[in-house]
Amino acid sequence: MEFSEICEHFEQLEQTSSRLEKTGIVTSLLTRAHKDEIPIIVQLILGSVFPTWSTEKVGVGEKLLIKVVADVTGLTEGAILGYLKDTGDVGRAVEQAMENKKQVMFLTEDLSLSRVYDDLTKISQYEGKRSQDKKLKILAGLLTNASPLEARYLSRIVVEKMRTGVAEGTVRDGIARAFGVPSDVVEKAFMVSNDMGLVAKKACEGKEALSTLSLMLFRPIKMMAAQKVSTIEEGFEIVGTPCAVEYKYDGFRMQIHKEGSKVHIFTRRLEDVTRQFRDVVDVVRENIAGDCIIEAETIGIAEDGRWLPFQQISRRIKRKYDIDEIIDKIPVMTNVFDVLYLDGKSMIDEPFKTRRQRLEKIVTSVPRKLVLSKMIITDDAKEARTFFSESLSLGNEGVMLKNLSSPYTPGLRVGHMLKLKSVLESLDCIVIGAEWGTGRRAHYLGSFHLAVLDENNMPVMLGKVATGITDEMLETLTERLRPLIEYEEGKMAHIKADLVVEVAYEEIQKSPHYESGFALRFPRLIRMREDKGPEDADTIERVYDIYESDML
Ligand code: AMP
Repeated sequence: MEFSEICEHFEQLEQTSSRLEKTGIVTSLLTRAHKDEIPIIVQLILGSVFPTWSTEKVGVGEKLLIKVVADVTGLTEGAILGYLKDTGDVGRAVEQAMENKKQVMFLTEDLSLSRVYDDLTKISQYEGKRSQDKKLKILAGLLTNASPLEARYLSRIVVEKMRTGVAEGTVRDGIARAFGVPSDVVEKAFMVSNDMGLVAKKACEGKEALSTLSLMLFRPIKMMAAQKVSTIEEGFEIVGTPCAVEYKYDGFRMQIHKEGSKVHIFTRRLEDVTRQFRDVVDVVRENIAGDCIIEAETIGIAEDGRWLPFQQISRRIKRKYDIDEIIDKIPVMTNVFDVLYLDGKSMIDEPFKTRRQRLEKIVTSVPRKLVLSKMIITDDAKEARTFFSESLSLGNEGVMLKNLSSPYTPGLRVGHMLKLKSVLESLDCIVIGAEWGTGRRAHYLGSFHLAVLDENNMPVMLGKVATGITDEMLETLTERLRPLIEYEEGKMAHIKADLVVEVAYEEIQKSPHYESGFALRFPRLIRMREDKGPEDADTIERVYDIYESDML
């Protein structure tokens, strides 16, 4: 397929906000594609070249892209940055640059999808110091042959910001329609494979082929999310009683894949953190029987055995060097709470009670290192409340309530698992902008612009936070955000949606000032949530729910 044809479809997707129309466009694109092209197209629609579980990344930032565009067009980098400022979108900026290029290009050839994909794969494989030039050359080759519209989408593809506003659900429905298979079968296949491209390819072979997709070791799947409740009674009503009540540890979730002595650990963002947690790998290898995929919450432990808050262990996630040193400094305890796969069989359709029983059989506890999550089964609200207080007194965040007969539903926030926390609602927001400080803080970014996700999973602004931030935190935040700056306007830095922060506030108010239609009163920054990606941030729907419940 010609790349131009795909770009025309992308443009159509961008021009409509109707989900129905978007589904139609996806369907049309998929029915035109050759079978081998289907996974690539699906992946691109979703905004990345490689599936989320893959460790492959194109690895081209906006800076490098602008440099290449300057080379190809004969314009200055400053001029391209100017376009970026005007449009606020790298794709449009590069498109404008191509329209206004100073250099005439001879001997251009039409770009095919396979050429684009092969070249991007090559770019992703270059690593190390000298890789920059090679990446640059391939990218320049692609842009030289691109029309302005193709350049718009090529640029967005390489920096992974597609802006076509297509959510996974729309792609799922498009696949179902294109290949005449039921949507729920597509959904299930995606849940267990976490690879929409592969799902589309199988769907094209028919329903039966699609149904063969199953969980695979070392291919992490999205983790089941918890719904929030405010009281034990509300929780009991949703999950039904008796139910399991477990400590809600304030740590970091791990999905651990084990086959024989091979063990890999993935975060909630499906990043592989095996290297940073060699101690967990060892203890799992020795003390968990069978080939399995399990989930656990890992917390830091102080010398005196006290459980440490999340901030401590987050240092271990980020550490890339001197790992052994930090392993000694911040030992961890892994609290195992679920099993999704065991000895060749998917367990996700089994009721939670059965999964827990199997888990108890395969885990040998090692005090302070590897234990089963503390759990009671009860239908007595008083007993559950006592357990909740006990959990809080140990430094935990609260409790989880789990329906005993529910399956494990990857990636979904359904009522199978609930969380009950002690503190007032906080919100996990995406940082989309920041302002440079003044005086003593001139070199630091302060006043962070916060966003939550709208119904198309796009960030919409909810307010700014400038309080609750220590100097040390300001420094950390500035270093973390600096590489994500897209462009600056005076003191304002526009930031690529990547970092999630937890924010507390006094109240949610309606407000015409921000895109979301809401604003936070007295927002305070609590902490960075490096375990969450922008896609895990809170939604406008949740903001609305909290607003509504406060009104009652
Ligand atoms: P939150 O991060 O506030 O959305 O709460 C859900 C998270 O609680 C899960 O993703 C886990 O990381 C964590 N968690 C802590 N203890 C447990 C537990 N016993 N069972 C399930 N999740 C837990």
